Amino acid sequence: MVSFSMLLYNFGKKQVFRAAGVTNPGFLDSAFAPFKPAVNTRWDNTWFYVESKGLPDHSMMTGITSWQQQVPIFHCYIGSNAWSIPLNPVKAATPVPVNNKHFLRGAVAIAANGIPIFNPYTNTGVDAYLDGQLDNWGGHSGRADDYHYHIAPMFLEAKSGPVTPIGFALDGYAIYGGKEPDGTAMKALDANHGHTGSDGRYHYHGTAAAPYMIGNMVGVVNEDTTLQIVPQAVAKGVRPALTPLKGATITGFHPNGSNGYTLIYTLAGATDSIVYSWDASGKFVYDFYTPAGKNTQNYNGKAVCQMPSSTDKLSKPSLFQAFPNPASDVIRLSMTTASFQRAVSSVALYNSGGACVFRKAGFVSAIQVQHLPKGIYFVELQKGETRSVTKVVLK
Ligand SMILES: [Zn+2]
Ligand SMILES: [Zn+2]
Repeated sequence: MVSFSMLLYNFGKKQVFRAAGVTNPGFLDSAFAPFKPAVNTRWDNTWFYVESKGLPDHSMMTGITSWQQQVPIFHCYIGSNAWSIPLNPVKAATPVPVNNKHFLRGAVAIAANGIPIFNPYTNTGVDAYLDGQLDNWGGHSGRADDYHYHIAPMFLEAKSGPVTPIGFALDGYAIYGGKEPDGTAMKALDANHGHTGSDGRYHYHGTAAAPYMIGNMVGVVNEDTTLQIVPQAVAKGVRPALTPLKGATITGFHPNGSNGYTLIYTLAGATDSIVYSWDASGKFVYDFYTPAGKNTQNYNGKAVCQMPSSTDKLSKPSLFQAFPNPASDVIRLSMTTASFQRAVSSVALYNSGGACVFRKAGFVSAIQVQHLPKGIYFVELQKGETRSVTKVVLK
């Protein structure tokens, strides 16, 4: 056998060889899981796909003091227009800077809640945060009325926990918040705004100050002539882009049912608003209220898209339990029935960076872990054509 660190996997009906550098899809999936079903995930041998409608579960837009007159609408980041994260990140010989010359269009990363994260610099080359263009969550709407962040969405830690990635860069490397994957304080960052973790994998960290998230793209990415990373999901607008509204401050933003919003702003001492909504067939109505009166604009846009029903096998009730959790020297495994136990073809343990640290054919009832670094691990059981994964913390 020449299979140094090569793993034979069985995804669906395909036999797949995965090299040691390939990230375990279960690791990526664990970051997006807290935000399902608004986010859907799936993967093949090359890419991990993230699907969403581009609208987060938090409020938006308030706090903006330099506004482009764009507002958030849904987008169909679904199917062939899903976000793509490479499962086999490759370190670049020369990391490309995320600055005012590169990656000025489109996303550089995708947040765990399915919202794209753009370069801190806008397509006009200014720091969007320092320029007052961002809301209280570090986002705003672009020219296609597409909501996206321009800095690291650190607040996602509140929902996903401090040791789960808040997103993934489009080069395939994880982005953490203010803690290391093992729960300790963030270690010193290199010029790329990350470092190699104790698991041997590179990761980035978000911070409150520039460069906020990614100094340079450590992994290989393809930048097209329009200065965006490809492949890249596309946001399709329904109305012409407007120009900045000098002096406007957004003070309120509220949903109108499930298919529209009211945005309130102040300008020259007056309080104005936009009330907008869409229907299932794709008719968009924007009502602009100003001291001069109401101005209604109608657009025939795009039909409402449906999120696919989850194809995620990992979220099904687990066929097995791993305990104790947290564990210190041994992880014990217990199957729900003896027949399930006989059907298990392999047991594997992955660290939080996706590296396989234990693997054995057939079922095992205990995995010795006292020699492993503390942190988050994933126990994976292969049974027929399905896999079952559960998270275990080593303390
Ligand atoms: Zn933007
Ligand atoms: Zn770190």
